[in-house]
Amino acid sequence: MSTARLTINLQALASNWRALNAKTDVETGAVVKADAYGLGAGPVSAILAEEGVRKFFVAAAEEGAAVRKAVGPDPQIFVFSGFMEGDNGLHFADNLIPLINSPEQFKRLQQAMPSHPFGVQLDSGMNRLGLEPADWAALRSEMESQNPQAVISHLACSDEPDHPMNRQQLKTFRDMTDGVTAPRSLAATAGTLMGSEFHFDFCRPGVGLYGGMPFADAKPVVTVDLPVIQVRAVEVGETVGYGGSWVARRPSRIATVAAGYADGLHRAIGGGIDAFAGDQPCPVVGRISMDLVTIDVTDLPEDPERLRILNGHQTVDDLAEAAGTIGYEILTSLGARYSRGYVE
Ligand SMILES: *Cc1c(COP(=O)(O)O)cnc(C)c1O
Repeated sequence: MSTARLTINLQALASNWRALNAKTDVETGAVVKADAYGLGAGPVSAILAEEGVRKFFVAAAEEGAAVRKAVGPDPQIFVFSGFMEGDNGLHFADNLIPLINSPEQFKRLQQAMPSHPFGVQLDSGMNRLGLEPADWAALRSEMESQNPQAVISHLACSDEPDHPMNRQQLKTFRDMTDGVTAPRSLAATAGTLMGSEFHFDFCRPGVGLYGGMPFADAKPVVTVDLPVIQVRAVEVGETVGYGGSWVARRPSRIATVAAGYADGLHRAIGGGIDAFAGDQPCPVVGRISMDLVTIDVTDLPEDPERLRILNGHQTVDDLAEAAGTIGYEILTSLGARYSRGYVE
């Protein structure tokens, strides 16, 4: 095996969905945008549909086809970006539901596909997507008369539960949707964890399903195994890798493994990250290259054949912290070069 292997534990994923679902008394959907956060929209959506998920969310209509194929005809698939210029019946052939974000999108949809189901995304303060309060006020009765499938909004600061913006957006969303009969939703993963006030009629977690923070109790879903290409002895004072940034302070054995920043192991990952031989941690040393990482395996009794960089102990969030980013970006960066396997 010459490329790194990404293993996705679908049972852990299903268990994370059940655990999030158990935190609410309402329906729980699933966000599977960006190829299910890099883990494969087909297998991920299929197992979630088996668990009973009936509302799926993608970012763009183009992402919907793979989800529809996996989940069958019944579950709803919503499209966050709504109905874009050039979108037509072909893009929405799989009975995808655009979440309308602007008066222009609503007009466009009515011209292109007047009786097609739609949902509404409202801006409750994030200023990213969604109808502004004034536009919603102007369009609300017309939209409601056409029976929208959902009315949603999104929290900007839910990664900080005590941030005042959360309650402010909650109030704005309540004010904007008071009396709406369509199912309402405000909560992603973090909002699901923030308590029932934020749940409305359904929650729509993403990252927590995939084992990422802020769902601290999530089971790890991804493991990444890196094949060792070669192991060499390095003398005291010799350096390893680009820039000679790591210097051996003892006679060392250095394993070079087949994955790098082109595989989402960001070059910015500094110290403090290990690769594991079984339970034994081995520090990543030197700079991460495009296709290669160097690891100090001096303390192992034998040279390893492969090392595991993502496991139950070291998570996507640990890698993210070391790289100065968030778990979401690590997940979605795990590239196309991995050989992928799914554990059911
Ligand atoms: C990505 C996204 C979600 C899911 O967010 P997580 O933090 O991954 O749970 C929910 N709603 C919207 C609008 C999103 O863009």
